[in-house]
Amino acid sequence: MVTIKQVYEAREQIKAIINETPIISSNQLSSICGNSIFLKGEHVQKTGSFKIRGATNKVKQTVREGASFVTAASSGNHGQAVAYIANILGVPATIVVPEDVTVSKLNAIKGYNGNIEKCGTTSAERLPRANELAKLKNGVFIPPYDDPYIIAGQGTVGLEILEQIEDVDVVVVPIGGGGLISGILTAIKETKPNVKVIGVEPEMANDTYLSLESGRITSISGTATIADGLRVNQPGDMTFPIINRYVDDIMLVSEEEIRHALFFVLERMKQLIEPSSAVTVAAAMFNKLGISDKKVACVLSGGNVDIRKLYKNFPEKDMG
Ligand SMILES: *Cc1c(COP(=O)(O)O)cnc(C)c1O
Repeated sequence: MVTIKQVYEAREQIKAIINETPIISSNQLSSICGNSIFLKGEHVQKTGSFKIRGATNKVKQTVREGASFVTAASSGNHGQAVAYIANILGVPATIVVPEDVTVSKLNAIKGYNGNIEKCGTTSAERLPRANELAKLKNGVFIPPYDDPYIIAGQGTVGLEILEQIEDVDVVVVPIGGGGLISGILTAIKETKPNVKVIGVEPEMANDTYLSLESGRITSISGTATIADGLRVNQPGDMTFPIINRYVDDIMLVSEEEIRHALFFVLERMKQLIEPSSAVTVAAAMFNKLGISDKKVACVLSGGNVDIRKLYKNFPEKDMG
């Protein structure tokens, strides 16, 4: 288990690098949801997602322990975060990306001086390659979620929420591999256990939901949800026990609900978020939370979206 002390230590380690992100609210969103909604804006975090928190804590630790090279397997936010912090610390990073990686993501990694290696199209191909590369060059592989330093780093989002939103009742968090929610659960349940933490997954990527139901790690086959940051087949060996112990509930949202929430936040609130962030707003907007008149914090986990592809993800019908 990760402890609250590790989350406090992570906060010290990362505070000079990361932004304390804003809380954004909208009366209109609150009235649609029947709760006071506060959005925690990690979409305006350095590198465009919360992933920089865990990556900074972990890469700093490995460098302290003597690493002179790091690798990651990711086309997305984790790869960008590892490239960014490695560049700041002056260690080379190689990010193993899929052959069909989008140009915008490639450019972001290159912009942080990350080396790129293309490999296959699935994480089953990328992961062993990133591990192998790390061993070849005496480096360290930086995992995306199943690591105590990563989890503790992500947990700093929870500390900020408790400070920024006085008397918050419920915190709503997207779940991919579970690093973000495990960190937030540690931060919140070990300081203010009465604050509820609710996880959200797409219906199409409900692996943690199923795992919780059966009481053990359960995997799903590949998923094509538009929430690409949540396309994970099963929760982690380290994240699942934390989720299983502490989470209050997990809710599922449909692809259409994700689209509606993303569109609402963009059009009405002028905030560009990615589908993986929109799941928490969708859960609040479509009454999945089963609560009213509460203070609810929805984590907007990231804002990295290919705007050329965004239009086709807009909902077909108006909500009225
Ligand atoms: C990685 C990611 C998630 C999921 O985080 P986990 O720690 O894997 O559960 C959610 N949203 C965005 C934007 C992400 O990049």
